[in-house]
Amino acid sequence: MKKSLFLFAALALAGTALGQKKAASLSRPKLVVGIVVDQMRYDYLYRYWTKYGNDGFKRLLGQGFSYENTHYNYVPTYTGPGHASIYTGTTPSMHGIVGNNWFVREEGKGTYVTEDKTVQAVGGTALAGQMSPRHMLTSTITDELRLATNFQSKVIGVCIKDRGSILPAGHAANAAYWYDGANGAFITSTFYQNALPEWVTKFNSQQRAAQYLDQPWTTLLPITEYTESSPDDVAWESAFKGETKPVFPHDLPRLSAAAPAAVQGALKAEGEKAPVATPRNLDLIRSTPFGNSLTADFALEAIRAEQLGQRGQTDFLALSFSSTDYVGHQFGTTAIETEDTYLRLDRDIARVLAYLDKTVGKGQVLVFLSADHAAAQSPNFMLEHHLPAGSVGPGLMRDSIQQALVQKHGPGKWVLSYENQQVYLNRPLIAQQKLDLRKVQDEVVDIAGTLSGVNRAIAADDLQKSHWESGMLMYLENGFFPKRSGDVMVVLEPGWLESYSYPVNKGTTHGSMNNYDTHVPLLFWGWHVKHGESSAPAKITDAAATLARFLHIQEPNGCTGTPLLEVLK
Ligand SMILES: [Zn+2]
Repeated sequence: MKKSLFLFAALALAGTALGQKKAASLSRPKLVVGIVVDQMRYDYLYRYWTKYGNDGFKRLLGQGFSYENTHYNYVPTYTGPGHASIYTGTTPSMHGIVGNNWFVREEGKGTYVTEDKTVQAVGGTALAGQMSPRHMLTSTITDELRLATNFQSKVIGVCIKDRGSILPAGHAANAAYWYDGANGAFITSTFYQNALPEWVTKFNSQQRAAQYLDQPWTTLLPITEYTESSPDDVAWESAFKGETKPVFPHDLPRLSAAAPAAVQGALKAEGEKAPVATPRNLDLIRSTPFGNSLTADFALEAIRAEQLGQRGQTDFLALSFSSTDYVGHQFGTTAIETEDTYLRLDRDIARVLAYLDKTVGKGQVLVFLSADHAAAQSPNFMLEHHLPAGSVGPGLMRDSIQQALVQKHGPGKWVLSYENQQVYLNRPLIAQQKLDLRKVQDEVVDIAGTLSGVNRAIAADDLQKSHWESGMLMYLENGFFPKRSGDVMVVLEPGWLESYSYPVNKGTTHGSMNNYDTHVPLLFWGWHVKHGESSAPAKITDAAATLARFLHIQEPNGCTGTPLLEVLK
């Protein structure tokens, strides 16, 4: 009798424990903060390790879970597709974001990834503000959180770049804010709301961008301590407009005094338009680490004013730091400027984490950190050290193919556009001349294959009719969306890149399927995350699937990733 009573009691206890476990597994974090660092290579976590403080990257790695072997699984590896893929859990073949720009065949002209002329700017210029996520064809994990909670969760996107804010925040966001250099303000569009909230107006009135540019950019540590980087004055770095050499200190007050006259190299590589002329060049902050500091300032204000994670619902802050990308493009991967930008970002991330501890509570916030793509080493840096590298000019690629087609088929504009290592052929002209599109694609494959730096080229027709689980063609297929992609995809040799300053070859870029462009950090930290790391292969598309499991919500509707199991155990 005693024994069975004991058994009964034990079973009851076990039942309670089970019940508690079930109840615990249905709880959710108060807030999710997604941090995307634009152009962050995986190895930057360790390259600058000894110079990081204890409360930024080291805190995330020391307490969180790191997927050390996380890669992009498509090309082209650019900012728009990268942000879309992290948050939709799928690739351009499904979400449709095939580049930062692409050629629209029906309109005979290019479009920009978040361009939307049906909406109006709110708080800034039309050029910067007519933006929305309408080109993105699937839902995001942030959309799914809104749907799962009957729109009671708040979702807010924050980034200097429009696309780094808009695509992560998704279609059903409460708000997305991005930076307009014309007035040095965070702005939005009528897609989200018709007027800026009072807290945003107040933040903008403080003119923090201008204040950051009132001081020169000097190194955070004594410059002699940047032993992880190349010397300050090297030929492969681009100086700021108005500088004679790309060296510290960068005199930001003087450099920002002049209005922007033309699109600078870094913006050009990103497919962005020239900012409008203004009395002071407040756009300059993008290409300094202070663009990240400004982003962090704004994010903290969003947490405070919108009471994110403090309302009894799971909220989501989609936060992206973009200055790393502008600085990386301009100075390259081994520059003191790049190292300094990461050391300062480390301090900004520490500031965000400390603020989350204070306002939402320790262990109450689920944070993940990744990157939208990584970056190649500067070709001239590589060549100086006898490593294989080179660059091609997109204009040269387009013109070489165009000329070869004229020689074959006579005069005509055969190549309409060359974007994202893709050739867009003049299909109406091909039809009019009664040529076979597939045959012309094959001709371009042969022509492109003879150009220097080209590994191989693939006809779109091949991508559409086959399926690849791995290898070079898998990357191309995952990046291919028939309505928006080109007729021929060009794959460059490792170390080679498309240089917008060709043949001068300054700074660097990204976009390829090579490891230096695809290998990115993926860290989870905070709510229900135990410390650990995994070297198991992870795809960037697994991030959203894993978040869906953490939150017990539906994965995004086009999700092709799978949950990462070790971090969920
Ligand atoms: Zn970039």
